[in-house]
Amino acid sequence: MGRKGGQAGTGESKARSTEICRAAALKKWRDPENVKKRFWSKVRIGADNECWPWIGAKGSGGYGSISLHGKHKNAHRVAYELTYGSIDQSKDCCHSCDNPPCCNPKHLFMGTAADNMNDCLRKGRRRPMTGERNPMFKMNTAAVISIRERVRTGQAKMAELAREYGVDHECIRMIVHRISWKHI
Ligand SMILES: [Zn+2]
Repeated sequence: MGRKGGQAGTGESKARSTEICRAAALKKWRDPENVKKRFWSKVRIGADNECWPWIGAKGSGGYGSISLHGKHKNAHRVAYELTYGSIDQSKDCCHSCDNPPCCNPKHLFMGTAADNMNDCLRKGRRRPMTGERNPMFKMNTAAVISIRERVRTGQAKMAELAREYGVDHECIRMIVHRISWKHI
């Protein structure tokens, strides 16, 4: 039996040390504690109920982007995974705050949990759910401002607004009391 590998030549020693470095770096980032440290160092962590924006690179849709194990991942998904454990890759990780860079685990939930959790999400669900979008999208900034204004001035009751926007009463209540859409 000969040597393992074939790295004996002097010309290959540089390549070899690069390889060792890479392997060491990979090992470092695979260590769950290091992944956690590295990840959370790129999040501006605030109070429990605040949005925690990602301060690292951003990908499409304004979502935070992080490269883990050679793959680009959405930061909020990673935040969810690091907090609650691994997630079903076929499901959406959604923001109750509708703030794409937010990584506060309390503002994140899986797409299908939304079915039971908050009828807010039912808005715009005439198309089948395929996971390409956050179902919260239908509720937009203008609608949130209008809803709050109309409740504040007594122009409309929350129940009426729920009917008008085709969402659950709880959804309107959360918007009005700034439990959701706090960033507006
Ligand atoms: Zn948030």
